Amino acid sequence: MKRLQIVQGDITKCQTDAIVNAANTALLGGGGVDGAIHRAAGPELLAECRTLGGCKTGEAKPTKAYRLPCRYIIHTPGPIWNGGKSGEDALLASCYRNSLAAAAGLGCKTVAFPSISTGVYHFPVERAARIAIAAIGDFLASHPEIERVTMVCFDRATLAVYQDALAEAGQAD
Ligand code: ADP
Repeated sequence: MKRLQIVQGDITKCQTDAIVNAANTALLGGGGVDGAIHRAAGPELLAECRTLGGCKTGEAKPTKAYRLPCRYIIHTPGPIWNGGKSGEDALLASCYRNSLAAAAGLGCKTVAFPSISTGVYHFPVERAARIAIAAIGDFLASHPEIERVTMVCFDRATLAVYQDALAEAGQAD
């Protein structure tokens, strides 16, 4: 999967066409990456988010990016981990698929993701990484217009897990 890269960094610094926000269903900001994106984008982002009427888990809604160096922010609420038998896997895959579909619909060619749901939502990171890489790989296979997807891992431990999952998926190709 040459069009999928895994890096360590801060997604608010990404100069991709779109970045994805691991939001909550209210879309009114929060902690973690959501808080970092709102702080860096500025208060106009919250004003636009207030007009959106929230977003269901697994769906995705775009906004402008205001003070961020990207063009769009795609907001997607990930599933809260509840033991794994409440549809969390399918909902997490939907986050990646629907975010990429929203970005492609806006003409984006490069998209960056954080590790959705693996922070305060407590989705196990190994399992989340396999789902993320499979969902992104499936989307890329049917959407040649997307040139690059970057998984932006905030810490080294998360980076290592996503790198391992990508290597595993590559061996299965
Ligand atoms: P969720 O509520 O979906 O679990 P969190 O924001 O709590 O979302 O965590 C998701 C991931 O985002 C975690 O791995 C966290 O370390 C990471 N993260 C936090 N800040 C940033 C940032 N600025 N850039 C990229 N990833 C970040």
